[in-house]
Order: sequence, then C-alpha cells, then structure tokens
Amino acid sequence: MIRRTTKSSLFEINDPALKLSSNFDLTSKTSMKMSAVAAIHAEVDSPFALKKVLRTVKQEERPTFILGGGKNTLFATSYFDGVVVSLGRSFAARELHADNTIRVGASLQLPALINFSRECGLMGLEFLTMVPGTVGGALASNAGAGDEGLCDYVKRVWVMARDGMIHSFSKNDFHYEYRHSALRDYVILEAELQLRPLNLPEAERRTNDFRNKKTNQPYHIPSSGCIFKNPKDPRTGANVSAGKLIDDCGLKNYSIRSAQVSQGHANFIVNNGSSSGEDFLALISLVRDIVHHKTEIELDLEVQIVGGPLNGVVLA
Ligand SMILES: Cc1cc2nc3c(=O)[nH]c(=O)nc-3n(C[C@H](O)[C@H](O)[C@H](O)COP(=O)(O)OP(=O)(O)OC[C@H]3O[C@@H](n4cnc5c(N)ncnc54)[C@H](O)[C@@H]3O)c2cc1C
Repeated sequence: MIRRTTKSSLFEINDPALKLSSNFDLTSKTSMKMSAVAAIHAEVDSPFALKKVLRTVKQEERPTFILGGGKNTLFATSYFDGVVVSLGRSFAARELHADNTIRVGASLQLPALINFSRECGLMGLEFLTMVPGTVGGALASNAGAGDEGLCDYVKRVWVMARDGMIHSFSKNDFHYEYRHSALRDYVILEAELQLRPLNLPEAERRTNDFRNKKTNQPYHIPSSGCIFKNPKDPRTGANVSAGKLIDDCGLKNYSIRSAQVSQGHANFIVNNGSSSGEDFLALISLVRDIVHHKTEIELDLEVQIVGGPLNGVVLA
C-alpha cells in the first residue's frame, strides 16, 4: 500500500463527530473492489462536523470526493491525493410525515428506503429494486430504472454547499435528467420524498417487473453497475441500449487483465481478480472507441470516475 505523509488542518479539528484517517484503504468501499488508497478519509456524523471539513478542504484547495455506498464509483488511480468524505449513521434517519411523504437521510441504504416506505404503507419506489447504494448517491445520479428516477419523487431536499451553508430546494428548483442531477454539486443531507398509498398487488407486480428485467446483471461479481448511459441514436433520436450496442460490436467477454466486459450484461465491466483503476479505464476507452468506430454513436459515462484523465466528480 502507498504511504505518504499528508499535512492538513483537518487534523486540528477537535470534534467527536469527525473520524479522520490518512492513507485510507478504499478497496472495500466500492462495489468494484479495486485497490485504491485515499490520502485522507473523513467520516462525518453531524452537519456541524461536515461544515468544518468542507470549509477546511475549500481553504486548502484539496480535491474532495463525496462517497456514498461506492456502487457507481471507480477510483482511476491507486492513490487519490485528496479527501474522501463519507456521511455516518446519523445521516441515515427516516421519518414518516403527513400527506404520504417520508423524510430520509442521505446515508440511508436504498433497500432500507424501500422497506421503510412499505412499513409506512406507501409505494412508488419499486423501480429501485436491486439498485444498491445510498439515498445521497441515488439523488446525485438520479438513479432508477425505466423512465423513473429518484429525483422524480423529491418534494424537498436539503444540501450543504462547499462554504458550509445549508440550502433547501423543491423539485422544481434544481435540474435533473436521466442519470444526472445538479444536486451533485452539493453534499446532499436529506430529502423529503412524495409517495402514494400502498396498493399491495400493484407494488408486488411492479417489484417483480423490475426484478425480472435484471436477471442478466452480474450481481455476485464485483462491478459498479452500468458503465455507460443509454445513448440516443443520432440518426433517429431513438433511445438505444448501451449494453446491446456493446454486445452487437462483439465485445462481450473482452478483457484487460482482470477487468472484463460481463458475459451476462455487456454494459457491466466486472472485476474478476485484482484489477486496477488503470485496467478499467483502458477497457472503458477501448469499448467506447470500438463502439464509436462501428456505429458512430458516442457513449457517455454513467459510472463516476474519480481522478485520472476521465475524472468527472471531484469537487475542486
Ligand atoms: C449490481 C449493480 C446494479 C446497479 N443497478 C442500477 C440500476 O438499475 N439503476 C441505476 O440507476 N443504478 C444502478 N447501479 C448503480 C448504483 O447502484 C447507483 O448509481 C446508486 O445510486 C449509487 O449510489 P451510491 O451511494 O453507491 O453512490 P456512490 O457510488 O458512492 O456515488 C455516486 C455519485 O454520487 C455522489 N454522491 C454520493 N453521495 C452523495 C451525497 N450525499 N451528496 C452528494 N453527492 C453524493 C458521488 O460523489 C458520486 O458522484 C447499479 C450498481 C450495481 C453495482
């Protein structure tokens, strides 16, 4: 493991709601399970501690990444010379509110979110069946299935900006689209979701429909979900499945060392051993180039890449 000495005023913050580590091993923190180390990891357990961390990293101009469940994140290099911030358990609260709404914290896991909405006699979130990760990660990525995404269900969301100020937005106040939301420019703290009364047969039918669509996804091999967004065909404007395009180009099973295009679902790249971020990036670039060459369709990344040439998500 790489070890470097990192000096930062973060280590001068005295707050029991802040746990700091240097040279932090991220291997178990992403579902891709590739080895990577962060210069500093900050686990925060109160908005006040988060505010102090954000203000310090801003002052020190340190690259900073907000990590949720790590289910759609890929560290591009074996050493991330920045700060990875995780929200602790105090951000996983859940409450039932009036008018079929629930208020949930950003670090709540998605399966727990679905279970809680059921316990409250509500439905709507069945499209998140078998989608791993946290509420914060799902709002930042507008995660979902079919034409539904979590941002569609937001009534109000509370976020912290880089200067430590808390803002709240209603659904109409922020831009979101397929697998992207402007909330990603902030740290998402909690959200109020507008659901509807539970109709058990309908909820069961929807859950089964979404589950059945996922039978070919490699759930038991390390991966980070879909690598590319489904593109539009530039000639017809129709939505195209990225997985089908990759498959049609004959790329299923293509591999660079242990990074491999999944046999089951060609839009997943799996880690069959001890792949590095560099192996994944090389395979991602290769797939993108071949698909473009053969079909003239550009694939955009859905996976969040931290560091390296394709870096898209670090707060600078
Ligand atoms: C087997 C498998 C199946 C999957 N199936 C689907 C699917 O059907 N549909 C789908 O949409 N996705 C799917 N995914 C991808 C993943 O589950 C979603 O993108 C999920 O929302 C990621 O949540 P996370 O907490 O793990 O986010 P992370 O991977 O930790 O982070 C993702 C992004 O969110 C940001 N983020 C995280 N928390 C916060 C926060 N509190 N505030 C601000 N930004 C934050 C990160 O900075 C990053 O940009 C799948 C993944 C796997 C491994």
